[in-house]
Amino acid sequence: MKTQVLGDGVAAMMLASNADKLPNHTISVVHPDNAPMARDHMLGFWNMDGLDLAVDSSRASWSNWAIITNTNKSVLHSEKHAYHIMHKANYLQNCRNKAEEHGVDFIEQADMTTDGRSLTFDSRPPTASNNAILQHFIGQEVEVDKPVFDTSTAILMDFRVDQSEGMHFIYLLPYSPTQALVESTLFTTTVLEREFYTNAIETYLLDHYGASIIDVIHEEQGVIPMGALSPHDSKIPGIGANAGAIRPASGYTFVFIHQQIQRAIEASKQGKPLRFKRPHKSVDVWMDAVLLTVLRNWPQQGPKLFARMAASLTGDEFVQFMSGHANWRLRFKVIMAMPKLPFIKGVSKHIFQRPQKVVS
Ligand SMILES: Cc1cc2nc3c(=O)[nH]c(=O)nc-3n(C[C@H](O)[C@H](O)[C@H](O)COP(=O)(O)OP(=O)(O)OC[C@H]3O[C@@H](n4cnc5c(N)ncnc54)[C@H](O)[C@@H]3O)c2cc1C
Repeated sequence: MKTQVLGDGVAAMMLASNADKLPNHTISVVHPDNAPMARDHMLGFWNMDGLDLAVDSSRASWSNWAIITNTNKSVLHSEKHAYHIMHKANYLQNCRNKAEEHGVDFIEQADMTTDGRSLTFDSRPPTASNNAILQHFIGQEVEVDKPVFDTSTAILMDFRVDQSEGMHFIYLLPYSPTQALVESTLFTTTVLEREFYTNAIETYLLDHYGASIIDVIHEEQGVIPMGALSPHDSKIPGIGANAGAIRPASGYTFVFIHQQIQRAIEASKQGKPLRFKRPHKSVDVWMDAVLLTVLRNWPQQGPKLFARMAASLTGDEFVQFMSGHANWRLRFKVIMAMPKLPFIKGVSKHIFQRPQKVVS
């Protein structure tokens, strides 16, 4: 069957690179009208089974990662599930090479088939609710004036920065003793002026490493909506972030797109219609919603929550939880690690709060 994917980002290209596993579908990737200019950015993920192409596309990886607050530092470790970073553009190109080998077509939206005999999936971004919590950040790949970075450990969250605008942390991936990707990231409802993030990066490097930036090699920025989202166009079935792949409380998406596509391929092999479902379990979505309610109402609790979670889990457990593979024992362990009062308040506020209005 003729199968078209509207959009040529991660989900569309990951599906296209797997076209050989869908022999009953002739896949076309469609570049949408009004698509913004493609911009490269870094994509991070923990290595899991089936992510070989991503691992091959990665630029660096770390078996240790840290979460740091004013009072705590947890360093987690996993040999099997290292944290990888890749250029999105590099991954998309590697997917494209595979897709072309499998005979996938690349077309413009004007050339799409619009009759009822073909399947169309939409990978254009979903819309966020009014006043949704956003994960917003600016990242700079910097060269600093002295060798200060510990290349053995990626820093996922360092909360030792200005918390006056809401929950704020630095994400730091050390490529060499003098080179790192450093991102200033907030989980709040309002995107800030560029200077806030760039000043935060500069101040952090000076305060905690005594280092000054001598060169900004690359800069990227992102705004990832968190919580419940609505499809780009409710008449077209979605794929990727547009079919619920963004993990509501972390913003991690890549690994969930992989799970979503693999499950759709398995179902198709069993003769079921091709469809891309939300890859998260309902209980995980519920736990994330409570966490977001706590962060929305009591953002000062954020550093403590993430620090306690990191301190209570092994590296492998942390990866399982973040990648949607938690079992009940692990979920219980996470719940037990949380400060109780904010969570009890968060659960009751989440239950009684009104659903957010969707902005289109
Ligand atoms: C700077 C940045 C860093 C990120 N880092 C990570 C990370 O480390 N790990 C992780 O898991 N996730 C990360 N994400 C989330 C990341 O976007 C997803 O993992 C992944 O790209 C989602 O794939 P997708 O195919 O659903 O959407 P995309 O890859 O965004 O593809 C969307 C498609 O829709 C098209 N499109 C977009 N807007 C329009 C429009 N208005 N009209 C028409 N077409 C449109 C685009 O051209 C593209 O073809 C990051 C996002 C950003 C912006």
